[in-house]
Amino acid sequence: MEIKIIKTTAPKAKPADETKLGFGKVFSDHMFIMEYDTGMGWHDARVVPYGDITLSPAAMVLHYGQEIFEGLKAYRTPNGDIQFFRPEENFKRLNSSAERLVIPQIPVEDALQALHTLVEVDKDWVPHTDGASLYIRPFIFAADPFLGVRPGDKYYFIIICSPSGAYYASGLNPVDIYVETKYVRAVKGGMGYTKTGGNYAASLAGQDEAHKQNYSQVLWLDGIERKYIEEVGAMNIFFIIDGEVVTPELQGSILPGITRKSVLELCRKWGMKVSERRISADEVAEAYKAGKLQEVFGSGTAAVISPVGHLKYGDLVMEINGNKIGEISQKLYDTMTGMQYGKLPDEMGWIVPLKK
Ligand SMILES: *Cc1c(COP(=O)(O)O)cnc(C)c1O
Repeated sequence: MEIKIIKTTAPKAKPADETKLGFGKVFSDHMFIMEYDTGMGWHDARVVPYGDITLSPAAMVLHYGQEIFEGLKAYRTPNGDIQFFRPEENFKRLNSSAERLVIPQIPVEDALQALHTLVEVDKDWVPHTDGASLYIRPFIFAADPFLGVRPGDKYYFIIICSPSGAYYASGLNPVDIYVETKYVRAVKGGMGYTKTGGNYAASLAGQDEAHKQNYSQVLWLDGIERKYIEEVGAMNIFFIIDGEVVTPELQGSILPGITRKSVLELCRKWGMKVSERRISADEVAEAYKAGKLQEVFGSGTAAVISPVGHLKYGDLVMEINGNKIGEISQKLYDTMTGMQYGKLPDEMGWIVPLKK
């Protein structure tokens, strides 16, 4: 694929204090754009200065939500090199989301080329501070000016980059979550396994309610029986019960996280008992009461591993591992972040260096 590069003539100042970056607020100097038109396919791949885009107010995405996205990071190693963590997995998943939302797919090789080309142009935007990274957001949306309901004929694939601070500025603090019993996020047969804005829109009311009650997130149950645990909405969920690592199986309503997959692969490599299966909130509560619930943690690109300190289910508030990060959670976090930041050898073949 040929990518045209038009560099900015007005580069922005890099953030002075990388410890104050937060998440998703600052954007790098450039973005990648490619367009799709029915009959032409994907065309006009280019890296251009970061800036606003113009859209018709009738653009289909604004009305019917035909949109998908990905999230990954570029990490800086101690010797200054830049690398990615399993980026091909993100673009395979983008295509799986595309298929479900009737969006034209992009060859993984082309998407990877776009990623490498953009990050090479903006490489000085990859933070140097420990734990900080360049968050990368690829997305595709339908842009035809048309109010009828049908798949689009015109799409944009854009990648933007946002230098972001360490997720855990003050150590791995456990989060408090509760089991959501009023709302559901996704159902089997729907779009739960895709990264699409609509799933997040569906989650906002529950999220809002959780914040009002001083919980950071909700744990979603299946939409049919309202019994089985699904995920946390931007993270997959793991339980360690009596030495067994348990996570809900992928059955269509859960997002197949790349961190989830990596956790499973590491735990299997370490010889642990690992199960992907249905697990009900009642089973978790029973394990807790029997003193067998050892660790609970979320997994996702942003936090990598997020220990759960308190888990509320109805009137029962479970304090997990004395509200402290567990041994396995810590080992997973150290191993994965060690590889991502180039401080541990990549024994799994997960690291992809930036092509120069
Ligand atoms: C992105 C996402 C995750 C985590 O996936 P990773 O690939 O590990 O970052 C989990 N759940 C939902 C709903 C997500 O959108």
